[in-house]
Amino acid sequence: MEKNWIEKNISDLKVTPNLIDYEKEKKSFEWEKIGEQFEGLPCGGLNIAHEAIDRHANSKAANKTALVWLGQDSQKQVFTFAKMKKETAKFANVLRSLGLAKGERIFTLSPRVPELYIAAIGILKNRNVICPLFSQFGPGPILQRMRGGDAKALLTTKKLFEKKIRSVMEQIPDLQYILLIDEPYDQSEKILSLPRLLKEASDAFEIEPTDPEDMSILHFTSGTTGMPKGVVHVHKALYTHWMTGKYVLDLHSDDVFWCTADPGWVTGTSYGIIAPWLHGVTNIVDEAEFNAKRWYRILQDENVTVWYTAPTAIRRLMRIESEPTREYDLSKLRLIQSVGEPLNPEALLWGVEKLKMPIHDNWWQTETGGIMISNLISQTVKPGSMGRPLPGIDASIIKVEDDGSVTEITEPGAEGDLALKPGWPSMFRAYLHNEEKYNKCFKGGRYISGDLAYKDEDGYFWFVGRADDIIKTSGHMVGPFEVESALMEHPAVAEAGVIGKPDPIIGQLVKAFVSLKAGVEATEDLKRELIGFGRKKLGAAVAPKEIEFKENLPKTRSGKIMRRLLKARELGLAEGDTSTLEQ
Ligand code: ATP
Ligand code: MG
Repeated sequence: MEKNWIEKNISDLKVTPNLIDYEKEKKSFEWEKIGEQFEGLPCGGLNIAHEAIDRHANSKAANKTALVWLGQDSQKQVFTFAKMKKETAKFANVLRSLGLAKGERIFTLSPRVPELYIAAIGILKNRNVICPLFSQFGPGPILQRMRGGDAKALLTTKKLFEKKIRSVMEQIPDLQYILLIDEPYDQSEKILSLPRLLKEASDAFEIEPTDPEDMSILHFTSGTTGMPKGVVHVHKALYTHWMTGKYVLDLHSDDVFWCTADPGWVTGTSYGIIAPWLHGVTNIVDEAEFNAKRWYRILQDENVTVWYTAPTAIRRLMRIESEPTREYDLSKLRLIQSVGEPLNPEALLWGVEKLKMPIHDNWWQTETGGIMISNLISQTVKPGSMGRPLPGIDASIIKVEDDGSVTEITEPGAEGDLALKPGWPSMFRAYLHNEEKYNKCFKGGRYISGDLAYKDEDGYFWFVGRADDIIKTSGHMVGPFEVESALMEHPAVAEAGVIGKPDPIIGQLVKAFVSLKAGVEATEDLKRELIGFGRKKLGAAVAPKEIEFKENLPKTRSGKIMRRLLKARELGLAEGDTSTLEQ
């Protein structure tokens, strides 16, 4: 297989340098030095809430805007760091008054309203653990996660409570309280009114000693490859959030930052809450779901300077014929970052053409807690590559031998498991209640990510696919991403999902599910054309042999194409866990 076809076909792009000399910084980088950025608690220890909010509220930045909230129906609320300190203190006092103790898990099931963001910080202040659920989950997935995570309390709205919780709440054994965001009166001793509790709470709260290793967040993974796992993070993770905020997001105190992810997914907490506030920048939160015009307008009206989004959103913007820089004033925007799935080179180039800047891909997982590999902004961006490991991150391509030992693959272009040397502060500390699964992730002193990749001569990492998704066809190993990206270069294709279908002769046959751009007709001729196009781009061995048009591809609610579901449906097999499937 020709691996570097993207590199050969598309010339490198340069971005405005942010003047960070990464190579120099990498040499002198020490995680412990990052700790100097933080104030620490007056009573000792390290707590995310203090470093993200209180520290700024106690400084000259007190009256600076911390949160700009944009409501579904064009309401807007603005919170300074001083106000956030008070509001989060009240919330923490509510938890304390209810006797919710250190380490106990508080779940949230809420739209992106200010209360959710206030609760997140308030929960950390009271040394409880936040477990954010995506508000569009149904009762089954909610129950499964709340039971598995030993939920002690839940923050939600009246509507979501009636629709999804009331019928299942008795099946959650440890659940003591339900706090309703929009209910003026208590319904019972268990179902309480948050406004009533807040009214009675003091706006001063002293955070008690917090160990950097104390549990802070429990996050469930996206469920792309199977049953979601409960990933445990600790307060010390903020070292990574601060570091990546500086090197990857290039946050400066006058920035306006917008991360489009919901806190139900790790990007929405690490970068939708923690990283921007650690840097004291203004954080935009939009309550509404994706809408191209609305998004462009937010970028324009809120003067967003740094934007963190996902390939699925970029591909949706690409589907629409528009000239955003002509229709909107996006002159303040200076940096776009993307995560969650591979960023197809086509999408990056669309950014250059339409938004007048490249989109920077970066790679990480719920388990890594923060960005690990990125197209660093003062370095050459290679379309199709995830970029290079950040300072303090030791990433390599390895092969796990049959006896469990690990060999590093140093040859450029050779595929293997993407692995990280443990030691970065935001590394997950456990899969909750699943030690065996956790231990299985570590081999030969490395964390094995479950993703396959290769490294080129310049040290850039290239995503090949999930270990589970790799297709073995006629003796070749094919990563679905490469095939999907090649198809996306065809002007008719909006999105593609590729699977291996069992075949008696060649092992697996490459099959592509393709969704077309608006207005393109799905014809047999186009199918043939796409098969030919694939052959030309990829060679006959790797190109898809079958193509099926689909209006939409099945995706997780965090926007990832669920190839395992395409495959299960194709083969008529059981669908497995579909709790995170976008309906
Ligand atoms: P599950 O572990 O439950 O199957 P998931 O792996 O999708 O779900 P997340 O932790 O949200 O859950 O996603 C991390 C994964 O997303 C990575 O392991 C990788 O496969 C994919 N990913 C994230 N960023 C990128 C990227 N820039 N390029 C390619 N793949 C990426
Ligand atoms: Mg995963």
